[in-house]
Amino acid sequence: MGIRQVGVLGATGSIGTSTLDVIARHPDRFRASVLVANRGTEALAALCVRFRPDLAIVADPSMEADLARRLAAAGVACAVASGPEAVTAAAAGPLCDTVVAAIVGAAGLDSTLAAARAGKRLLLANKESIVMGGELLLGALREGGGDLIPVDSEHNAIFQCLPGGRPALGPAGVRRLILTASGGPFRGRTRAQLGQVTPDEACAHPKWSMGRKISVDSATLMNKGLEVIEAHHLFGAPADAIEVVVHPQSLVHSMVDYVDGSVLAQLGNPDMRTAIACALAYPERIGAGVAPLDLAAHARLDFETPDLDTFRCLALAFEALRAGGDATAILNAANEVAVEAFLAGTLPFLGIAEVVERVLEELPAHPVVDVQTLVGRDAEARRAARGVLHRAYC
Ligand code: NAD
Ligand code: MG
Repeated sequence: MGIRQVGVLGATGSIGTSTLDVIARHPDRFRASVLVANRGTEALAALCVRFRPDLAIVADPSMEADLARRLAAAGVACAVASGPEAVTAAAAGPLCDTVVAAIVGAAGLDSTLAAARAGKRLLLANKESIVMGGELLLGALREGGGDLIPVDSEHNAIFQCLPGGRPALGPAGVRRLILTASGGPFRGRTRAQLGQVTPDEACAHPKWSMGRKISVDSATLMNKGLEVIEAHHLFGAPADAIEVVVHPQSLVHSMVDYVDGSVLAQLGNPDMRTAIACALAYPERIGAGVAPLDLAAHARLDFETPDLDTFRCLALAFEALRAGGDATAILNAANEVAVEAFLAGTLPFLGIAEVVERVLEELPAHPVVDVQTLVGRDAEARRAARGVLHRAYC
């Protein structure tokens, strides 16, 4: 096999940076051929100097000239493009055979679908795209005939604990998927203790260093809710066969419970490079720069039931999954608007679940027909969320 040409969508983010770190360790196996960022041209240009891709794309068209200028000044000769269409075209195009979908939020949907349809090896970190359009993504994968390998640590753990990747669960003897949750920075707090928490407190995750949106999702447990939905689609598990258990040490990344009573777990230090390296090299194993796990130093592994009354978002995600259709896309869109408002200081922490709950009540689920309709429903849910925000908090 030749060197894999990897398109890193979201190259300047937390997952993107970890991906490039693994790629840099294995120049004989991987090359970063396409790099995509939203608007951070300084960081993107610095990555281009280091990785010399064939193509660099900035999603915001107003930043293209700035990127081109920086690259010219640095003597980097790669092609430059901009706009969401360029991102989608590159995800499906000839410059990469592997796509790391690490854009944050619904903005990653089109490029994720395009990579799947084009039969790329798809390394999926962008959980929002599968939460929005799970059926569409699975359809696109069937059409393209490529592999999807989960990068989200829980799903990567489950992937590793299943025989042969993503088999049908019933015939494989699987009883339940058990997703672990760290519990986030506010684990153990009551609702009364969460009224005044700030964005910086919410983003100070005890175990994982991540982008701000997913950090807030981890603090509300919406991240685990999105992951339950993600697990449902990726592994074909019904909601009742997915359990969440809080595990504050974040060493067990998830588990698979089999009908004979065996529970297989994947463990490791909390470092996304493990899941990324597993996904990049699958079915081989390669070094990821992650320190060996020292179990004796950690001494104990704790497990608790999640507090669904305080962390309503997890319960809402289960409800949306059970409602079916596009309810999970509505949940995702309302959550993105609410998290943005929380990060901007205009919505209190507990308001995030309130906004999501009201929007789910306002917009009953419709069947998912196609991408255009889904994108329209996403926009409708965002408008509804802004309406709730305006009425309740302005
Ligand atoms: P981040 O905020 O650190 O990075 C996001 C990246 O996406 C940046 O490179 C940004 O420039 C790019 N981006 C944002 N909007 C874009 C747009 N419209 N078009 C093109 N590029 C755009 O986020 P992150 O923590 O790396 O998370 C990325 C995705 O991976 C999220 O969906 C998250 O849920 C998922 N994920 C992250 C982690 C983690 O440890 N960080 C773990 C599991 C899953
Ligand atoms: Mg995760």
